[in-house]
Amino acid sequence: MIAILLGAPGVGKGTQAVRLADETGAAHVSTGDLLRTARRQGTELGRKAQSYMDAGELVPDGLILDLVREHLTTLPRTSDVLLDGFPRTIAQAEGLDDALDEVGLEVGRVVLFEAPDETLVKRLAGRRTCTKCGAVYNTYFGPPERDGVCDRCGGELVQRPDDEPQTVRRRLEVYTEQTEPLIAYYENHDTAELVRIEADRLPEAVFEDFRQVVGGGTPA
Ligand code: AMP
Repeated sequence: MIAILLGAPGVGKGTQAVRLADETGAAHVSTGDLLRTARRQGTELGRKAQSYMDAGELVPDGLILDLVREHLTTLPRTSDVLLDGFPRTIAQAEGLDDALDEVGLEVGRVVLFEAPDETLVKRLAGRRTCTKCGAVYNTYFGPPERDGVCDRCGGELVQRPDDEPQTVRRRLEVYTEQTEPLIAYYENHDTAELVRIEADRLPEAVFEDFRQVVGGGTPA
């Protein structure tokens, strides 16, 4: 099954996707992660995406659609796919439908994670990542024992540039303006079923619902 994880930045859909992918072997496709990798590797895409990402704006649809189309061809056809952070605009959703249609696939589920803005801001602005091992902390909800130091490996904890307060505000505006219209798009979609999950709870409780909604997965 192809499932789309929809929800504002900071709602926790990435964390949930990683966990479900670990448990079920589903492919987790995060356009944010793919773009960050492209930036680290200094590819042309990475260079083009950089200024948009740092400003909290969306990377242009054409670049994202090329990236996703290319990435989808690398996945085994039988794997379940969790699309995280994509699509983010109506044009991307239409592009995805067309691309899947060409290969005889379709979107099965859209999982909408919902939480109040207040929670989203704390989750994003409080997020710190270890530069050495990649462990993620939150200064509000799961702080490290020593400020700025990773409990696991002693590495330095840093904030993603786009998690700084001003950029966080812009990312939330962009979500409302450009991504929220996808809720109506998928409510009226031919194949996708939209399911809402209350995400302002402990990750464990959210995961129970998420697992049920997407399930162990039937092959696409
Ligand atoms: P994320 O990690 O999903 O919050 O994405 C980080 C940033 O990458 C976003 O703020 C955008 O600048 C860019 N990005 C990720 N996915 C998309 C997408 N589907 N469309 C446009 N820009 C994206």
